[in-house]
Amino acid sequence: MRTPIIAGNWKMHKNVGEAVELARQLDEMVADSAVEVVICAPFTSLSSLSALGLNKVKIGAQNMYFAEAGAFTGEISATMLEDVGCEYVILGHSERREIFKEDDELINKKVLKALEVGLKPILCVGETLAQRKAGETENVVVSQTTKGLAGVSPELIEQVVIAYEPIWAIGTGETSNGKDANEVIASIRQTLAKLFGDEQAQKVRIQYGGSVKPGNIAEFMEQPEIDGALVGGASLNVKDFVGIVKY
Ligand code: PEP
Repeated sequence: MRTPIIAGNWKMHKNVGEAVELARQLDEMVADSAVEVVICAPFTSLSSLSALGLNKVKIGAQNMYFAEAGAFTGEISATMLEDVGCEYVILGHSERREIFKEDDELINKKVLKALEVGLKPILCVGETLAQRKAGETENVVVSQTTKGLAGVSPELIEQVVIAYEPIWAIGTGETSNGKDANEVIASIRQTLAKLFGDEQAQKVRIQYGGSVKPGNIAEFMEQPEIDGALVGGASLNVKDFVGIVKY
């Protein structure tokens, strides 16, 4: 049985005070949930969130660099994230791929480094609208999954969470439907089975992401292959995020 995981991606939102307030409220309101709940906050809030000693909600970052330390101005290492109490880190989000030109090779180095220091990567994969229209969805996600996870050992793969996020559904109000998302996620799991064996593939949690709201979360969570959600906009409002966690 895979424990469902719902993670909020706050992107470049919330100053420290706002982040602390939202995290405190959320932690109280989802205390009795059976779902694993994570907030992926901007770097500037991570220490303060960690210092709250939240009972239920876990903390994640939204990016990191693969090197241990050195002359990489503006970057943050995996060890630094671990040091401030992060358990998760989002890697390969479509905004990193599109705006900051991150490719599968770079994302793979980050995944390997995160696992090396004991951070759990949330690896994002997903197709553009043009790729979907050209019937390339499965090829794209299989390729991103395979390249992103190159060199990961079968023992460590269960530490990885995969987020299937069709790019055309992110922040647009457009969503995939439960059945379509389930099919794509099933193809990701088949890829994992080929790479790591069926037993290990069954342990990996695969989320859906893309305009998830309290009103549509149930449609995704009732699908057999979907183990949770990566939530952007709706995770910025406590009532909406709680509504999603308590689907
Ligand atoms: C995201 O940023 O990963 C995301 C899914 O955003 P939204 O929920 O706003 O579409």
